[in-house]
Amino acid sequence: SHGTSPILSMTPKKPQQWLQVVGHAGSFHVGEYGTLLKKFCKGEQECYLKLMEDPMRPFVPVYYGVVQRDEQDYNMMDNLLTSFNTPAIMDCKIGSRTYLEEELQLARERPQPRKDMYEKMVAVDPEAPTVQEHTQQAVLKTRYMQWRETLSSTTTLGFRIEGFKKPNEECHTNFKRTKSRQQVMEALSDFVESNTQTVWGYLRRLKQLRQVLESSEFFRTHEVVGSSLLFVHDHSGRTGVWMIDFGKTVALPPNLTVDHRTSWVEGNREDGYLWGLDNLIDILTDMLPL
Ligand code: ATP
Ligand code: MG
Ligand code: MG
Repeated sequence: SHGTSPILSMTPKKPQQWLQVVGHAGSFHVGEYGTLLKKFCKGEQECYLKLMEDPMRPFVPVYYGVVQRDEQDYNMMDNLLTSFNTPAIMDCKIGSRTYLEEELQLARERPQPRKDMYEKMVAVDPEAPTVQEHTQQAVLKTRYMQWRETLSSTTTLGFRIEGFKKPNEECHTNFKRTKSRQQVMEALSDFVESNTQTVWGYLRRLKQLRQVLESSEFFRTHEVVGSSLLFVHDHSGRTGVWMIDFGKTVALPPNLTVDHRTSWVEGNREDGYLWGLDNLIDILTDMLPL
């Protein structure tokens, strides 16, 4: 090469397109040469470092290390939208639980009746609180965390749509109560605009991912919670799916492994990731013509 770094020679410098579907606003910056900077999280860095050495590598954004901007540290990774032309983008959170076992334990050690959570609960479903919770006008955080999961398809299908964005449309993020298989399928059909080629592309990639996950050392030894699959397609027929968001992916103790399909019982650390992926693959398959 001509003395350029591998990153420089890989990616031409062109105006970068990026947009965020969901997640914390203000955590991201578009970097140079097709990269994206996400506010630093130690746990996420540790995951990316291990993932770069695992068979899962082709299914996550390439990780380039930590960079600083205005005193703030960022994890630098590939912007997955770079090779697409005005793409449609969807974020699906995978797994049958979106809080860690350690979050549950912490919340339980300091049981605090929460008025704010009671109010959020009532706003969604006035019937949800028990008589006692109504009397106290408060719910425990543990109770709220577990109730919230039952609203969407997280507990029943092992994944939920967080949001999607199609070209020339606003972000759709109103899926908090999209729960039944039928409702999920309708939302997915809307996202792919019933394009069979796109569904085929996604299915092929998801099946490859499943195969890799079943053989991955990283995956066997981590509780993967709150992680999403990012779906991207454009008019050229190009499709891509990657795993993102490892802020709540934690290593298991040395002698414990998970299969990501066994039902969760507190203590077994199972997260339902592969169960959810199986269901997602099933639903997409049912969207194809016979
Ligand atoms: P959460 O509230 O889910 O914890 P977060 O702040 O951890 O959110 P992410 O889930 O990592 O953020 O990302 C939020 C959004 O940013 C995604 O839905 C996606 O639209 C976009 N995004 C994240 N990483 C990438 C990437 N590598 N390439 C392109 N887009 C990305
Ligand atoms: Mg996320
Ligand atoms: Mg996150």
